[in-house]
Amino acid sequence: MTGKRATYLDWNANAPMRAEAIEAVAHALALCGNPSSVHRFGRRARQAIEAARENVAALVNAAAEDVIFTSGGTEANSLALKGFPGRRVLVSTIEHESVLAAVPEAERIPATPLGIVDLAALQTMLAEDKRPALVSVMFANNETGVIQPVAEIARIAHAHHALYHCDAVQGPGKVPVDFRGLGADLMTISAHKIGGPMGIGALIARGALMMRPLIAGGGQERGRRAGTENFSGIVGFGAAAELAAAEMDAAPRVASLRNAAQHALQAAAPAAKVFGAEAPRLPNTLCIAMPGVASATQVMALDLSGVMVSAGAACSSGKVTRSHVLDAMSVPCLEAECAIRITLGWSTEAADIDHLVEAWTALYARSQASAA
Ligand code: PLP
Repeated sequence: MTGKRATYLDWNANAPMRAEAIEAVAHALALCGNPSSVHRFGRRARQAIEAARENVAALVNAAAEDVIFTSGGTEANSLALKGFPGRRVLVSTIEHESVLAAVPEAERIPATPLGIVDLAALQTMLAEDKRPALVSVMFANNETGVIQPVAEIARIAHAHHALYHCDAVQGPGKVPVDFRGLGADLMTISAHKIGGPMGIGALIARGALMMRPLIAGGGQERGRRAGTENFSGIVGFGAAAELAAAEMDAAPRVASLRNAAQHALQAAAPAAKVFGAEAPRLPNTLCIAMPGVASATQVMALDLSGVMVSAGAACSSGKVTRSHVLDAMSVPCLEAECAIRITLGWSTEAADIDHLVEAWTALYARSQASAA
């Protein structure tokens, strides 16, 4: 099986674009007209943007007017975190780099060994310092898949008069995400994780919440993100958002494939460690350490066998460094250095898992033989 077959198991980094989204983008690229122009071509573009905004809002149960289109999840996170300069910022230690780097001096909320943000620590941090605050904790972790208790975090934040921002990039399309129901003030989403184009995302900001824009200029996006809109990107995002709700029907099938992979890999190497499995987890994510084999070695060897996975937070820049998420979970260095992330999606098949198991098991056997 190895050699010919290409098995893509890196969906948390990028999901394949849906045919409908590709078609919508191609159609939009052929249209002339600035959405800010008042003539008919301008109005046509405006209508298409507003229809996409409705679809994106519906995906996460938000109001369309609360959706601010950005260049992706990274920009949306920056806009949320830098947008309230008067507030102290608290972020969890397991956040994506785009949150951690947005406000480097932000206070860090620790995580438990299960990969869940420490709610008691958050309570204490907010109670001990009464200055207005902004709390940022993600919906689900991109490396371990661990789903955070976001409704509870929103409740704690609000009890202390803090704003709550949720980086929900890894949620939609995998599990239901309910902006209104969770009580978040701000939420980040990204098109390329749900079968839309790369380079387009959104920050959802409740009601009239105004933040300092990152980009000043024309009054686009109600003055919160200037610049002529990424028209084709937005249209593609809308098309993907419309279909992403239906993807959730695939979640039980994806979860059973993920569980089958986990069992098969642990049967082949009983010492293999799975991270985040004791907590509520996204149905598609498996973070596992092959004992004694460095993450980068595994990623390269599996790629040579036709299986594409990533190491830790490789989706940020392709770099392979030890995961700050596993560090935050107090995973010993020797284990964290051997962790890879295997992520599935709606088109993953049993044959993909067979391919992974075959390649992973063969690599493990080779490593055992060379160690002997
Ligand atoms: N937040 C999380 C949790 C992510 O997983 C990612 C990307 O992998 C981002 C933010 C960044 O999103 P984007 O790639 O759209 O900039």
